[in-house]
Amino acid sequence: MDIIKADSEYIANTYSRFPIVLASGKGSIVKDCDGKEYIDMATGIAVNVFGVGDEEWKKAVVDQLDKIPHTSNLYYSEPCVNLAKLMVEKTNMNKVFFANSGAEANECAIKVARKYAQDKKGAEYFNVITLKNSFHGRTITTLSATGQDVFHKDFLPLTEGFLYAEPNNLQSVEELVKTNKVAGILLEVVQGEGGVIALDEEFLKGVEAICKQNDILFMCDEVQCGNGRSGELFAYMNFDLRPDVFTTAKGIGGGLPLGVCVLGEKVKDVLTPSSHGSTFGGNPVATAGAFSIFSRIDQKLLDEVKKKSAYIFNELKGASGIKSVTGLGLMIGVETVKPSTDVINECIKNGVLFIKAKSKVRLLPALNIDDELLKKAIKVLKEACKV
Ligand SMILES: *Cc1c(COP(=O)(O)O)cnc(C)c1O
Repeated sequence: MDIIKADSEYIANTYSRFPIVLASGKGSIVKDCDGKEYIDMATGIAVNVFGVGDEEWKKAVVDQLDKIPHTSNLYYSEPCVNLAKLMVEKTNMNKVFFANSGAEANECAIKVARKYAQDKKGAEYFNVITLKNSFHGRTITTLSATGQDVFHKDFLPLTEGFLYAEPNNLQSVEELVKTNKVAGILLEVVQGEGGVIALDEEFLKGVEAICKQNDILFMCDEVQCGNGRSGELFAYMNFDLRPDVFTTAKGIGGGLPLGVCVLGEKVKDVLTPSSHGSTFGGNPVATAGAFSIFSRIDQKLLDEVKKKSAYIFNELKGASGIKSVTGLGLMIGVETVKPSTDVINECIKNGVLFIKAKSKVRLLPALNIDDELLKKAIKVLKEACKV
């Protein structure tokens, strides 16, 4: 069967896929259906934290599959409690809500912000401030939270109650807070889909302070930049921030769908029975696997992330055909002189997979990628960028 042809015939046309059928892999090497090998610098969009087919994760998943793969949330189950406890202990937060994707984790955060504000100040405090150039998901509400018109245009009207501030412009946040009734502020510490842009420390600390002063929830979307990718367990930790709520997904599931909304002291009891829920959320198999991933994101790994990150920045900054290198840790965006699509296609020909973020080449390697493979991949990228 011609897989590419059948895909376009039977699957909704929402993705412009690269013409590669990935069939297998191990660690940071993936193979297509003809057996051609690639170094994977995309990790399924920041999902495969320890590469493909990580043995410990696989064992945790298979063991749980053998016990009980699904329970529903009408009963207690151990893997989900184990992961929640670990996440709370490692972040000094208080409680978690489990969902199945980043968008859903953000939906939960938005609901928490609205309910907190309604309980405390009144239902008219429903607005959530997000940033221009942000990305928070594809549901109608998280699209509305996403501060990019391109994502909005065909799906109006979107959920009301979202206001967009300028990233790295504290005054624009202050003005929106002053002139509107605001429940919370949601931002990505490193804007991913917006072009891999780390927000300024001063701005982040300023937003946090505005939130505290006004009893507005400070919420971080750590779906892409979380789980060790930034060089700290969560990106907000690079700047000693204390969010009231943060969300994560992508990397934490190790390849299975899992989203988490993590709640701090202020909001730990905002959600009450039947105010929120999910059939699959906290699924035993997904959470057993996630426990294995999350428990291994330790200081040693984070130090490794920082070292590899410094290596990449050092290699790429100022190299021929490279205009800028942005990001944090192993979440890096490269602005190229040649169109990034041409650069990426050239790299694919030479056996390395990169993806795009806006007009940039985006690097999201496994956090434990072998140094030799990383070196090879960077060499191929530099060669492809050369002008
Ligand atoms: C990918 C992403 C989302 C959406 O996650 P899904 O699992 O695709 O719903 C939300 N926020 C950020 C920052 C992301 O990178």
